[in-house]
Amino acid sequence: MLFGIDLGHGCDFDGGAVGIRREEDLINETGELVIAKLSKAGHRIIRTRPLKANSTKHSLQQRCDIANYHECEIFISIHFNSFTPTANGVETFAISEIGWKYAENICKNIAQLGYTDRGAKNGRIYYVLRNTKMPAIIVEGCFITNKKDMALFSAENTSDAILEGILSASSPSG
Ligand SMILES: [Zn+2]
Repeated sequence: MLFGIDLGHGCDFDGGAVGIRREEDLINETGELVIAKLSKAGHRIIRTRPLKANSTKHSLQQRCDIANYHECEIFISIHFNSFTPTANGVETFAISEIGWKYAENICKNIAQLGYTDRGAKNGRIYYVLRNTKMPAIIVEGCFITNKKDMALFSAENTSDAILEGILSASSPSG
């Protein structure tokens, strides 16, 4: 399959959140492993993070344009959450029926690592979900503002869970 893998933020005007750790660092660590593991499993990857942007909207639009231009079959945007110190756990967002299947599988697999399962949610507020032409999801791996989540976090384990979620959602029986 052809995957659009979107490492969230990471460019001008679109920096990630900062908590106990930086969102961008976790995105890069986890995202690179997801890309490597998907490639190893025989899938093709389009990276959708732009090199430069003039605004947040420009950053988000370019991600959609890249995925749409390459006609990716599924778009997966990787993020980590931030909020008050007690908020914790994994959540995913989707708007399409197929996206929903990926969102549920990935969320369930990450939760099995020991995170609170906040579930798959309706992501209609998200620009990249509304403006990509293929099933698209956002993964919010865990909270960079929560001590327990940050103690539990491992890019290796989270990327494995994302991969398992993707593969079970894309298999005919998944
Ligand atoms: Zn983010």
